[in-house]
Amino acid sequence: AVEARQVIKLFNGIEILKGVDLTIASGEVVCLIGPSGSGKSTFLRCLNHLEKIDGGSLQVFGEWIGYRQVGDRLHSLKESEIVRQRARIGMVFQRFNLFGHMTALENVIEAPMQVKKVPRPQAIAEAQQLLDRVGLSHRYHAYPSELSGGQQQRVAIARALAMKPQIMLFDEPTSALDPELVGEVLDVMRSLAEEGMTMVVVTHEMAFAREVCSKVAFMDNGAIIETDTPQRLFSAPAHARTRDFLTRVL
Ligand code: ATP
Ligand code: MG
Repeated sequence: AVEARQVIKLFNGIEILKGVDLTIASGEVVCLIGPSGSGKSTFLRCLNHLEKIDGGSLQVFGEWIGYRQVGDRLHSLKESEIVRQRARIGMVFQRFNLFGHMTALENVIEAPMQVKKVPRPQAIAEAQQLLDRVGLSHRYHAYPSELSGGQQQRVAIARALAMKPQIMLFDEPTSALDPELVGEVLDVMRSLAEEGMTMVVVTHEMAFAREVCSKVAFMDNGAIIETDTPQRLFSAPAHARTRDFLTRVL
């Protein structure tokens, strides 16, 4: 589903991603862990072309992110084509990023109607199903300011799912939440994983990583240092840097 090869990203001439390699199979849930500033968010943003990579290659479900292959050459995609490509890749951020002047339901129908031209009645029916699925069947018409952080984040997940993405990217989806609200968001993510969604999750929730992820990738200083099953990575990390990080967070 994801093939990242030696992905390089520069900011102001400084290499922030220094050759990231990661392979994710369909249906896999990969947790990305690592110290602050190691490049986790940057890599996630590259996966969905919010950042353009400066080197290496990146394919998601067989498509070059930001490019189209013609013969043996890659051509940059136009903005409209990038929008279409991005529609297949759902993203949920630490901050919920909901439209504040729209209800939960309106937030969820917005992109399908605008980007995919789904007729409003169909968009509403699908949005209601999604809000039911994330446990918000009683809050269709609530504005973000009337919802708890956990509820807002569940609306954000429903909104991403409304585009019927093939893969979901989560960037620390629970780290802005009060502790008592973390569980309800992780439960929604766990059920998504059980339904077979391909997911990349940047998280500090090591218990979630251990229980839900098929693989954990440890990132440090702009590169993925090691990738393994949570069982092995948490109990017997191969690298000293992984070991040091884990002793600090576990
Ligand atoms: P955290 O755990 O704190 O979220 P992270 O692993 O997600 O950290 P990134 O946000 O990817 O780290 O940042 C990696 C490095 O890239 C940091 O040194 C950061 O300052 C730098 N960086 C990120 N975005 C930009 C930008 N738009 N312009 C310049 N530098 C940036
Ligand atoms: Mg980050």
